[in-house]
Amino acid sequence: MQDVQLYQQILGLESPWKVSRVELDVDLEEIRVHVGHPRGMKFRCPECQVECRIHDHAEERRWRHLDSCQFKTFLVTRPPRVKCPEHGVKTILVPWAERGCRFTSLFERFALDVLLATQTVAGAMCLLQTSWDETWHFLERAVARGLERKEAKLLPRVGIDEKAFARGHTYITLLYDLDHSTVEAIPDGHDTDSAIACFSQLSREQIASIEAIAMDMSPAYVKAAKQTLPLAEQKIVHDRFHVMQLVTKAVDQIRRAEHRKLLLEDNPCLAKTKYLWLTNQENLSENQQVAMDRVFSLRLETGRAWGYKELLRDLWDHDDAGAATDYFKDWYRRVIHTKLTPLKKVARTIRERLDNVVSYCTHGVTNGVAEGLNSKIMSIKRRVGGFQNRENFKTAIKFYCGGLDLYPR
Ligand SMILES: [Zn+2]
Repeated sequence: MQDVQLYQQILGLESPWKVSRVELDVDLEEIRVHVGHPRGMKFRCPECQVECRIHDHAEERRWRHLDSCQFKTFLVTRPPRVKCPEHGVKTILVPWAERGCRFTSLFERFALDVLLATQTVAGAMCLLQTSWDETWHFLERAVARGLERKEAKLLPRVGIDEKAFARGHTYITLLYDLDHSTVEAIPDGHDTDSAIACFSQLSREQIASIEAIAMDMSPAYVKAAKQTLPLAEQKIVHDRFHVMQLVTKAVDQIRRAEHRKLLLEDNPCLAKTKYLWLTNQENLSENQQVAMDRVFSLRLETGRAWGYKELLRDLWDHDDAGAATDYFKDWYRRVIHTKLTPLKKVARTIRERLDNVVSYCTHGVTNGVAEGLNSKIMSIKRRVGGFQNRENFKTAIKFYCGGLDLYPR
């Protein structure tokens, strides 16, 4: 019986388990490897680990194992039931699978590798020949396992950010560990309570270890940080990309208004220029640069606003907060004397929160560092199809971005 020896070898079964018979079912494309144990063995009670005599055997059970040459392969046995003096009659835990799982741990490890590589449940289920529910269950179990094992590491540099889900009708808040690019907490919503819920998942040591926290300028997150973190004012860093986004939006508002006004005078010179003003100067193509120079020479309000936007980008190049503050004040004085109302509005917003904008020069953190993480989360949203709800989306984020130890032992 060479097949018995072969499977005994490749399965690497622990003593006292032995392959007794190998069944090939060509119609079902299945191989069933029957395993058993010698008579008179003792097994451990699953509750207390005490070695006990066998009472009887449970019904036959099977576990899906790694395929053999494209044939679905199953381990089959009737697991012994022991009679524990303390816990009564109990079915033992087999060494090749976790409790309650219909797949061997080796198969489960492989399934996790496939899920990580394909990044889609649909893709993984095709390769694994498993159902959606089974495949999703691997992911869920892995997250549960990972969270159980997770140790509270220190978090000197964190970021807090919101993400829309379900076409912007629902939000979640994400707490990032910026040093490891992992997601540490995902409460629902995007208000003060959501942010407080993030921090409440951290231990006292973790809270104390936070030196800098990147966030947008939303009052909700600022309020939550001040309520939760000691000396929060010195730690908050408003995300530079978020600040620049506000400024860029103001430039766009100015362009739209000016374009409307010019069209009334039959002047289409700002038509199709939207992206010229949104792009950073060094990223313009040669053609775009030519187009930009042409419109810029017309001395329009849009051009001036764009110039101020480009100037402000240098704010974050300063080595210390004091120099950055001086630079901003100078910028502010110039902007505030213009008629560029949307830009003036943003300038005032920045001035109000200036200390926590220039604190970038001290801490150097931005949620843009988590940009890789961000695009990962967006691709999860797109690609791990079939999310029925927000909980599934959150589970997938924990699986792919949680930095968790996912594998069964
Ligand atoms: Zn027991």
